[in-house]
Amino acid sequence: MKRSDFLKSMLLASLATKGMGLKALDHWSKTATPTAKMPVLFLGHGSPMNAIEENEFVAGFRNIGKQISSPRAILCISAHWETKGTRITAMEHPRTIHDFGGFPEALYQQQYPAPGSPQLAKETAGLITSAPVEMDHDWGLDHGAWTVIKHMYPNANVPVIQMSLDYTKPPQYHYELAQQLAALRNKGVLIVGSGNMVHNLRLVAWDKLQADNYGYDWTLEAREFMNNCIVSGSHDPLIHYARQGTALQKAIPTPEHFLPLLYVLALQEKGEQAELFNDKALGGSLTMTSVSIS
Ligand code: ZN
Repeated sequence: MKRSDFLKSMLLASLATKGMGLKALDHWSKTATPTAKMPVLFLGHGSPMNAIEENEFVAGFRNIGKQISSPRAILCISAHWETKGTRITAMEHPRTIHDFGGFPEALYQQQYPAPGSPQLAKETAGLITSAPVEMDHDWGLDHGAWTVIKHMYPNANVPVIQMSLDYTKPPQYHYELAQQLAALRNKGVLIVGSGNMVHNLRLVAWDKLQADNYGYDWTLEAREFMNNCIVSGSHDPLIHYARQGTALQKAIPTPEHFLPLLYVLALQEKGEQAELFNDKALGGSLTMTSVSIS
């Protein structure tokens, strides 16, 4: 080995062991071998405390992680990143964002040091023809992303990028934008929508959070309607959720926790099945229902 090659390999090895992300980035940009088509996931993220608690939902995230062959990278669409226009995180080392208040110190101590992937950010932006996409160097990983992805990939060795939700656009726009991401599934990219299908924080029964599968009548009604649509591949009523009566209006008082589901459904291809997991109501006015499409 030439001395310059030797020095280069030493440098790479040292960067890799320091978790500098270079290895992961190289992995994304230089691995050309075809991979099996990745599934698409919607994860009901619930409380940020799921990052450090052990419960059935966390077990569900872990379990789905084990069922999926290792992705080359993850693209997450989180309820907690809303912007004017569409942005994609393009930094090499996204910070762990603690975008919540009033939780125990232990939660703020949590770090999820997964690398980013500027290359994948660029490739993703290149697929989107319906809207301009901005490369973002300020965001990072918000709790919609890291509190769930950490259970699937606890070693933080899979690069993660995020794409924002344009809060100025209607549901149909998001559904059509998501369809343009389809090619990523064949490149080993796991696309994850993170939100909660029924999410009305104003009406949470805080004293019932420990009760198993506790949902108000309208929560259960909305869940049943949504689940039926998802399992039967009937996406139109969900895109037009605002026209589906009071149960859905109460379930979706604001769109941001619901829209990530539309990104996931939009990527369902002919012959693919949608399977539900973590399908429980929580605290009256929330559901943790999650979806795997493959
Ligand atoms: Zn949330």
